[in-house]
Formats: sequence, C-alpha cells, structure tokens
Amino acid sequence: MKILIIGAGGFIGSHLCEEILKSHKDWRVIAADITSDKIRHLMSEGNFDFRRIDILTDLARTEESVEECDAVFPLAAIANPRIYVQDPLRVFELDFEANLRIVKWAAKYGKRLIFPSTSEVYGMCRDEEFTEEGSDCVTGPICKQRWIYSCSKQMLDRVIYACGIRDNLRYTLFRPFNWVGPRLDDINDEGGRSRVVTQFLSNILYGKDLVLADGGAQIRCFTFIADGIDALIKITENKDNCADGQIFNIGNPYNRCSIRELANRILRLAERYPQLKDSVAKIKIVDAASSDYYGKSYQDVLKRVPSVKKAEELLGWKPITGMDELLIKTMDFCFGAAGGQLRPDRSLQI
Ligand code: NAD
Repeated sequence: MKILIIGAGGFIGSHLCEEILKSHKDWRVIAADITSDKIRHLMSEGNFDFRRIDILTDLARTEESVEECDAVFPLAAIANPRIYVQDPLRVFELDFEANLRIVKWAAKYGKRLIFPSTSEVYGMCRDEEFTEEGSDCVTGPICKQRWIYSCSKQMLDRVIYACGIRDNLRYTLFRPFNWVGPRLDDINDEGGRSRVVTQFLSNILYGKDLVLADGGAQIRCFTFIADGIDALIKITENKDNCADGQIFNIGNPYNRCSIRELANRILRLAERYPQLKDSVAKIKIVDAASSDYYGKSYQDVLKRVPSVKKAEELLGWKPITGMDELLIKTMDFCFGAAGGQLRPDRSLQI
C-alpha cells in the first residue's frame, strides 16, 4: 500500500511516518510537507519518499501525489488557538480551502481518505462525554473568531460525509483530543505559537511564570502520541473494512485534567531535573483573562471529554498511557532536545 501523508513533517505526521516504516515494511510512504526537520532521520529509509510540496501553491504536484497513492492523510493545517484569533483567514485558506481540494481529488481518483477532524468540532457542547454520532457541534458568535478552525474542520467533515454518500468516497474521520508527546511544538519558540503543554515546558525552561487563561478550570483529556498513532495504524489496516465510513474520537478519557492541574503536575515533574530545580521553585502560576492572553475574539471550551467506545468496539483500540507517564516522556524529550544537557534525576520519586 502506498500512503500519502501531507503534513508529514508535523507532530502527528512525523510519528505516523516513523511507525509505518517500523511496523509495516510492505507499505510505502510519500511524505509531503514544506518542512522536514522532524523527519530528517527517516530520509534514508527505502520506503520513504519525501516531497517538498506547498499545498497552497503546488497544486499540480499535490494532485499528482494523490493520484499516485492508495490512501491519503491530509494532516497539513494550522492547529493553534492564537492564530485562529490573529489570522483567521490563513486558517480558512489552509485548513479548509487547501484541504477541500485534496478531498475532491481523493473522490475523483477513488482514493481512501483518512482525515483529521478535531475534538474542537464539538465546541461548547455540554455533554459529559462527546459521542461521534450523538453530540452536537456548538460554536459561538461570528465575532468570536476562534471558531474558524472548528467550523473549517466541521464543514470538511460534512463534505467528506456527503461525498461518501454521493461519490462513494472511502473515508475515515478521526478526532484527536489533545495529543501530546515528543516533537509536539518547538520548545524554543517564545512567540506563543505552542500548544499548552509545550508552552508550559518552554516557560519553565526560560524561568517564566505559567499563565492560566480564565482561571485554568478548563478540562481536557491528554492523549499520548503513541496511543494516537496506534489508532491511526489500526484505521489504516482497516481489518474487515472496520474503519470505512466511520468517525472516531481518539482521546484518553482516563487522563482528564484541568489546565490548572496540568500546570501543577508539570511543575512537580520538572523538579526531577536537577538543573531546573532552583528556577522551578521561583515559578508561579498566574491568571490572565483569555481576552488578554489570546485576544478579544477568543472563547473557551469548558470541558472536552471523549467517549472512545466506538474506537474500542470497531478498532479494538484503547489508550494506555497515563498522565504522568506521557508528561515525563514529553519532558524528557523536550528538555533533552533543548541544548541536549538537561537530564532528569531518575532516582527521585514522583
Ligand atoms: P502540526 O502543526 O505539527 O503539523 C502540520 C504540518 O503541516 C507541519 O509540518 C507543517 O509544516 C505542514 N504544513 C503547513 N502548511 C503547509 C502547506 N501549505 N503545505 C504543506 N504542508 C504544510 O500539526 P499536528 O499536530 O501534526 O496536526 C495534524 C492534523 O491533526 C491537523 O489537521 C490538526 O488540525 C489535526 N489535529 C491535531 C490535534 C493534536 O492534538 N495534535 C488535535 C486535533 C486535530
């Protein structure tokens, strides 16, 4: 099977490429991206074909790559709340318009489409647990521009679903719930472009306070990247067509945690690094209004917990990595990568 991964140089894409090359030697990967730092170590692999393609401008090469593959993962998108608010049209152009073209090419050439939806499509839904077929998708007023990401993804979900019915498009939609792990974002990025875990780690590294938007009471379910990738492999294998025409929440409901709790856990775990101990002791957890932190057109989701029953039943998948373990693995990678000097004292109890 030839698998096209667009956005292969990103967090999810790089882990997916790595796992496919490791566990499925008979699959070939065409990896497309505008960046390649996170997949540099895979470049010499025989079954790996990297193509520097910008899906906003290199339309012919993108279309040819879709035509050439058996299955396509269109993973290129902007998935950062600060950009939803500061540059919503950039989000629309990449996350919606460029990906819509890929969906249409997959339908035109009869290719399997495995598309990343997002937990954000459920928006401000008040269900205790979000279910793929039962929960509403609830967004806010137009002036709250943060919803452009959720709406772009939701609209593509609807287009893909409709293409499944009208054009017999073979598809699977997966909805990641806060996947975390090595290579999530650049810990040295001080411009606030990182997602929450990397942002906290970066602040610790640079001795800055951890900022909680609107009190940090928001509940999220953090999912280790290896568990997420395990689900994507099962979806790609598609035993007995179990993933065809399905939507799956891929998250870890057992790792539900408020952002305040997350900040406290990370600070506690950072004490394992002898070099950080003194600076960690000085770091405070401080509050900020989300309108100051993200911008006025931000609006938050108070609780986001997935039901993963469907993935368990149809894919035989279950997340297995607990909260401390996923944070430790992420921290060991990030702090190790930041100059290569920070090593934990593994004798300390956590
Ligand atoms: P990422 O930002 O780490 O990776 C995206 C990749 O797309 C990057 O390598 C980037 O260089 C590439 N890219 C950007 N513009 C491009 C262009 N014009 N042409 C080609 N490549 C381009 O994101 P990720 O965390 O790996 O997420 C992958 C997908 O999963 C996205 O669609 C995202 O919305 C979705 N998702 C992720 C999460 C999560 O927890 N990480 C949650 C929900 C949904």
